[in-house]
Amino acid sequence: MQRDYKEALTEDIFKYITEASELLKLESYVIGGFVRDFLLQRKKSAKDIDIVAVGSGIKLAQKVAELLPNKPKVQIFKTYGTAMLRFEDVEIEFVGARKESYTSNSRNPEVEAGTLEEDQNRRDFTINALAISLNKSTYGAMLDPFGGIEDLKRGIIKTPLDPNVTYSDDPLRMMRAIRFATQLDFKIEQNSLDAIAKNAHRIDIITRERIVDELHKILLSTKPSKGFVLLEKTGLLKRFLPELVALKGIDEVQGQKHKDNFYHTLEVVDNISKKTDDLWLRWSALLHDIGKAPTKRFDKKIGWTFHAHEFVGSKMVYKLFKRLKMPLNDKMKYVQKLVLLSSRPVILAEEVTDSAVRRLIFDAGDDIEDLMIHCEADITTKNAKKFKQYHNNFKLVRQKIKEVEERDRVRNFQPPISGELIMETFNLKPCREIGVLKEAVKEAILEGEIKNDFEEAYQYMLVKAEDLGLKKI
Ligand code: ATP
Ligand code: MG
Repeated sequence: MQRDYKEALTEDIFKYITEASELLKLESYVIGGFVRDFLLQRKKSAKDIDIVAVGSGIKLAQKVAELLPNKPKVQIFKTYGTAMLRFEDVEIEFVGARKESYTSNSRNPEVEAGTLEEDQNRRDFTINALAISLNKSTYGAMLDPFGGIEDLKRGIIKTPLDPNVTYSDDPLRMMRAIRFATQLDFKIEQNSLDAIAKNAHRIDIITRERIVDELHKILLSTKPSKGFVLLEKTGLLKRFLPELVALKGIDEVQGQKHKDNFYHTLEVVDNISKKTDDLWLRWSALLHDIGKAPTKRFDKKIGWTFHAHEFVGSKMVYKLFKRLKMPLNDKMKYVQKLVLLSSRPVILAEEVTDSAVRRLIFDAGDDIEDLMIHCEADITTKNAKKFKQYHNNFKLVRQKIKEVEERDRVRNFQPPISGELIMETFNLKPCREIGVLKEAVKEAILEGEIKNDFEEAYQYMLVKAEDLGLKKI
């Protein structure tokens, strides 16, 4: 079954690879993601191209670089026996065809040179094992030993060999199966899915960084919930994001139920994904309710409560990022902040006072718009009347934020009284009173007792200083 796919090979680079292969007297094929994405007509194809050589991938890369007019640099990864070069804005990876054999307690397989078929056997899915010949005599021929084209048409993720072997050999493939199912909106074939559930515990041998890479790709899909439902059902999710799994389930006491916060969260993530491609805003949506599991209580008078879950949740974000070896940088702080503030606009929607709006603008700073996007995505009620009403409430909050900000400019405001000024005015060395005074001035501005200007703030500071027994020099 060898159909012609020359139309896939429009990039100039392929001609050079063919020529280099001829010179080295070896066979080469374009394989994997490029072929899959070409057949699916996915736009992102051609940004990374994988070439397999029956022989040395490194030598082939070097020969191609020699032939290319701009003589690009070849990066060699000796341990993996691979080489990479850049051509225009495309990254081309070269690898020698190989067969792999795994032992049960190591991630690193024994690798030997192999045939094209052996190399296709070690690929993760039938749709990723498709290869197109770059050899002169068969240029453009498709080699599809496992019915990958049919699976692409039917939208099926399936391993080429026994899925238990494929997943146990390299457990990351379980994440990849779910990631591709989510990105492409494909179905994981039943045997393959069962094997993920069976081998889920093996994910523990995979580095956190690689797991997070796949999580990012799932989160950046059009409908991330698909991936998270699969991760949960197969038992993978609890191994690296137990905080999310803890949100699952509905408790009932005295006839009172709370909502299932796991599925609610996933709905929020899907909603926000329609509004933004920002990975970190999507992470914020994913984690916004994680404080609800540890704070859940039943109160006879008021029913279910999740007191301070936003605060608890924002503290959990740090531990979670740390555990997943995600960088503890500004992005993490941003997620913490959004989790912490995630209910604030909701409270405002019930009663919009100027001072509450000023406080929110001050606390959210430049992230106020993201916070509002989050809150709107957080509306998951199935009651059409309430749905409309909540959205209208947020429209009012947005309007009010605009008015207050135009008038009072508290977003990112620096309180007009600095610590240095306080020290000079009262002849102080660094001490507690400075902080107390600064805080009092800031509070008075946010409360609307005084205007956000120097003169009023200065007078206010003098009055407060007297209360503290400080004398102006
Ligand atoms: P994308 O680039 O969108 O992530 P891709 O399929 O190109 O998708 P890569 O990680 O670039 O994924 O890998 C290229 C090819 O290498 C895959 O198509 C697949 O054939 C093979 N491959 C990658 N990772 C694995 C793995 N863990 N096990 C088996 N084969 C793999
Ligand atoms: Mg790729």
